[in-house]
Amino acid sequence: MATHWKKLTNPNYLGAYSIENGQDLILTIKYVNEETVIGTDGKKDNCVVCHFVENVKPMILNSTNMKMITKLYKTPYIEDWTGKKIQVGIEKIKAFGEVVEALRIRKTIPQIQAKELPKCEICGNDIQPLSNMTAEQVAVYTKNKYGKQLCSACATKLAQKATEQNDSEGEISNAVD
Ligand SMILES: [Zn+2]
Repeated sequence: MATHWKKLTNPNYLGAYSIENGQDLILTIKYVNEETVIGTDGKKDNCVVCHFVENVKPMILNSTNMKMITKLYKTPYIEDWTGKKIQVGIEKIKAFGEVVEALRIRKTIPQIQAKELPKCEICGNDIQPLSNMTAEQVAVYTKNKYGKQLCSACATKLAQKATEQNDSEGEISNAVD
């Protein structure tokens, strides 16, 4: 699949012009899809388009960039690319006898900084994510419910204590010391 260089300047999609001061972008893939792209000349074309978690325009993937993602993450299946991080920068390429700037996915997987997990206010351990909640969501949820941000073990203990007190006293206890 070839990318017409004109598409590289389609303002609806990520392009070399999206990159400020030559600074590479670190982006997280939300999903990749085959979509109809309307070029600046009004011509419709089917392209593979990559959407990102970050607030940037989607990027049309040419074969070079798709091969790069395949190589980086060792899978050619676009469904597997969801959630993966890529580093996007500018490279000068020759197209139709001209030198143009194009977006290239870099050869390295961007280093993701380890995020500090919120700490449990009872035991001091890191609050871990649950199956359907991030660690931050667990912290907010327990803060709202118990008045303290808690790890799931401490939250479970408090919940049990509350139930026991409930049973013996027949009233809703605060559960927070
Ligand atoms: Zn705890």
